[in-house]
Amino acid sequence: MKIQTQTTKSNSILSIVKYGDPILRRKVEDITDFTSLPNMTEQMFNTMYEESGIGLAANQVGWSLNILVLDTSSIEGEENNKPYSFINSKIIKTEGEIVLEEGCLSVPDIRADINRPETIILRYQDLDQNFHENIFTGIVSRVIQHELDHLQGKLFIDYL
Ligand code: ZN
Repeated sequence: MKIQTQTTKSNSILSIVKYGDPILRRKVEDITDFTSLPNMTEQMFNTMYEESGIGLAANQVGWSLNILVLDTSSIEGEENNKPYSFINSKIIKTEGEIVLEEGCLSVPDIRADINRPETIILRYQDLDQNFHENIFTGIVSRVIQHELDHLQGKLFIDYL
């Protein structure tokens, strides 16, 4: 027997936590149990796309866990155009600096030029718990740094 299991996209759209909610100010916990991660990251991607975002940290959907997702393919000229999900990620090296404009799904209607390192080396785990170290630059590097701030309880407006 085949059961109709097709779920509509809206079932996996989560609410974005907005500025003022204390969860955005708490440092998240590292992931130790990876079993729910495929489902959780899928919901985060769906929510991010629904909100026209290019990056999302788990505490922005109410989960105080070390997960971030991003996809910059909607930005013209961006070559690193594929979805990424990073678990338990940490920046281990930075180089250069660059001013780029940032906005945030949790802080609507504010955009600001923020100075950050241009290039980073990120250590992270994938959904299968494998460890990686990769170099990122450009918009992807910027989004990672913005989302990693979220996971530390920090917002981009703290730099203003
Ligand atoms: Zn943000």
